Amino acid sequence: MEKEFAKNLLYKPTYAHLNQDRPTVDAFCNAYRAYMDASKTERDAVRTSVEMAEKAGFTPYVPGQPLVPGQRIYRINREKSLMLAVVGSESLAQGFRVIASHIDSPRLDLKPMPLYESSGIGYFKTHYYGGIKKYHWAALPLALHGVVYLKDGTRVDVCIGEDENDPVLYISDLMPHIAKDQVAKTASNVISGESLNLITGSLPFDEEEGVKLNVLSILHEKYGMEERDFMTAELSAVPAQKSREVGLDRSMIAAYGMDDKICAYPSLRALEDLDVPKHTCVVFLADKEEIGSEGVTGLRSEAYAAFLRDLCADAGVCDREAFRNSLCLSADVGGAYDPCYAEAYEANNSCYIGKGVVVSKYTGSRGKGGCSDASAEVMSRVALLLDGAGIAWQTGEYGKVDQGGAGTVAVEIAKFGIDVVDVGVPLLSMHAPSELAAKSDIYSMYGCCKAIFND
Ligand code: MN
Ligand code: MN
Repeated sequence: MEKEFAKNLLYKPTYAHLNQDRPTVDAFCNAYRAYMDASKTERDAVRTSVEMAEKAGFTPYVPGQPLVPGQRIYRINREKSLMLAVVGSESLAQGFRVIASHIDSPRLDLKPMPLYESSGIGYFKTHYYGGIKKYHWAALPLALHGVVYLKDGTRVDVCIGEDENDPVLYISDLMPHIAKDQVAKTASNVISGESLNLITGSLPFDEEEGVKLNVLSILHEKYGMEERDFMTAELSAVPAQKSREVGLDRSMIAAYGMDDKICAYPSLRALEDLDVPKHTCVVFLADKEEIGSEGVTGLRSEAYAAFLRDLCADAGVCDREAFRNSLCLSADVGGAYDPCYAEAYEANNSCYIGKGVVVSKYTGSRGKGGCSDASAEVMSRVALLLDGAGIAWQTGEYGKVDQGGAGTVAVEIAKFGIDVVDVGVPLLSMHAPSELAAKSDIYSMYGCCKAIFND
């Protein structure tokens, strides 16, 4: 065999950047950064996504009316998850094209009775949400986001720490000078869950009453809150910083909560771009993925299939047939190979930042446990779509066999009887307060979403 011919048989991933127009990528990523900065919790993300969608002509879905090709609809699920669709020209019996991502991210939730003081310092107790390295969250400016229902049922929205002039919350760490015992602990115990206490103040109410009452009085003045109202609230501490460009070449973005809004945003943009697609195209922005997709806003809820079933009912089409003919991307981040921690990865089967979207046949852990394992047929179908659209893509597992692993919403989609495969953006420092991704990969994800919707 001729050597030059033989060399072409080898697989070589390429830099996604080389086939992209840099100003176009930068413009897309600037808009993405604005979305990220305004979408730190799932409630924030639903609000910003609905604003985007309404500007693009989407209207609330009213079941029981005939569907019109090109029609743009959305359904909000309890302010914490969102489903959107653009109606296609073909019968729904030909199936949906779905992209499902999640908009919740690891963070620190306030406990139902969070308020206390100790040694002249006021605190909120927290219970972390999702998989975090707890020591990441100390000595970092934190913002408070959420909603409180007062005793009379009045709803109050809370956002403290995002404006430059706002105060922030803070978790202290022990100084290294006297940390001999602390640094000898394993990383998961360096800071315990019960030490993730948010500092809220240091001034007493007066000579008799302390810091706790002073903090409560500030909350009462600003929001009308009493202590009991924390029990009917959802308040979360998230990193207060905004997204930044990273690298002297400005090729990357660091931001909080990229897992998984780095997939949510491109899927929304791709949906907005559609005029009248052939298939009815759907975007799911799910909640609760980071704690197992449970709950009425998680993808294990019937709410998502119900949206698709309602559309089928409107079209007079059997939903089971529509599901059989559907294709879904479970759009979630991939754990990018990190050469500084090479021992955790298997280099041949890892994804790399800058080399395009990662298409993962399977996720799971300990022998693919708990994953949906896409078939060769589905892999081929998606590969053909991506190659046809000129989108850089690669494969990747979550680290070495038996090193750990991860699950995604793919299993929940598969339960509907819909073909599904995991596709996403490679991420460094996943689940850290600031995660890192390549701009070229974010733009590749946008192209990938368009390719699926234009199938
Ligand atoms: Mn994720
Ligand atoms: Mn995650």
